Amino acid sequence: KIEVSRAPIRQLDEAAANRIAAGEVVERPASAVKELVENALDAGARRISVDYADGGKTLIRVSDDGTGIPAEELPLALSRHATSKIDGTDLLNIHTFGFRGEALPSLGAVGRLGITSRPPGAASACRITVDGGRMSDVLPAAGNPGTVVELRDLFHATPARLKFLRTDRAEAQAIGDVVRRLAMAEPGVGFTLRDRGSNRTLFRADPETGDLFSALHGRLRQVLGPEFADNAVRVDAERDGVRLTGFAALPTYSRGAAVSQFLFVNGRPVKDRLLLGALRAAYSDVLSRDRHPAAALFVTVDPERVDVNVHPAKSEVRFRDAALVRSLLINGVRAALADAGHRASSTVGT
Ligand code: ADP
Ligand code: MG
Repeated sequence: KIEVSRAPIRQLDEAAANRIAAGEVVERPASAVKELVENALDAGARRISVDYADGGKTLIRVSDDGTGIPAEELPLALSRHATSKIDGTDLLNIHTFGFRGEALPSLGAVGRLGITSRPPGAASACRITVDGGRMSDVLPAAGNPGTVVELRDLFHATPARLKFLRTDRAEAQAIGDVVRRLAMAEPGVGFTLRDRGSNRTLFRADPETGDLFSALHGRLRQVLGPEFADNAVRVDAERDGVRLTGFAALPTYSRGAAVSQFLFVNGRPVKDRLLLGALRAAYSDVLSRDRHPAAALFVTVDPERVDVNVHPAKSEVRFRDAALVRSLLINGVRAALADAGHRASSTVGT
């Protein structure tokens, strides 16, 4: 008989628990950027700037002009499962990007984190830092209304993790992808993305105004370029309470790789296999197999009919009516493309 030695059950301390949770939330610099920009959006920011250096490995800084965090709440913002966004009673009706209260403590466990924040009504800003899970006191600091979160030396305490990151270039590309997706999701918010290393502005989008479609079209012009915007048709369909809106490019604008497919569920960027498959199916009659459609499409559905709570870092969702969503997307996009075709041929005729 084998002797098994067993240690008693112990409660992990906060620092150890944070480090474990951090592994789930923060895979790479782009996941930190995603969490921080989502926090800025949840705080009602109208302008958000993202700065990074060395592919985000040495520096990520996200500045916003949102509600700020009162000085007395700064230590709480860095504590696990502490959130101002839900009270835990209605997990089915979540209207913010965040709700787990895990991002900031996780980031503080895997890098040197500093938060400087000033609620618009406060006379001055305050700052708190956390490094290796150790929190500083809250001290007065200089700062504009809003919040600046700075994350330095990501994974410095976990060299194994650092080793798995890709080149600065590849990590920078992933950061750009995250910021562009969120910029498409929020056309009313201004975004700036800068590489501090080269001091270059990589992306800039001013706040869009106007109705849903014109604001989105203007934003897509800024994010995906004029060629996409000039070749995109409006998609607007609804069935059984599920709505599909956005723009899909004419088949003539197709790409050799699936790089311009942007899907959103209730305002959140997702990379969902069901939706991507439906998009491909929508173009199956008009595109050859080696071409890929380009589109930015938004599914809006009662939060009770979709589960976005699948994984903190992954952008998967689970629909209760998967078949309905799939056929809505296929038929909605096909109808928009057909309509554009009719209008084009009737113009030629006149
Ligand atoms: P969650 O977003 O799930 O609530 P986080 O750890 O990301 O958890 O943030 C914890 C809390 O800190 C938030 O609930 C919010 O109250 C506050 N917070 C974080 N970032 C910002 C910000 N940029 N502006 C205002 N408040 C913020
Ligand atoms: Mg958050």
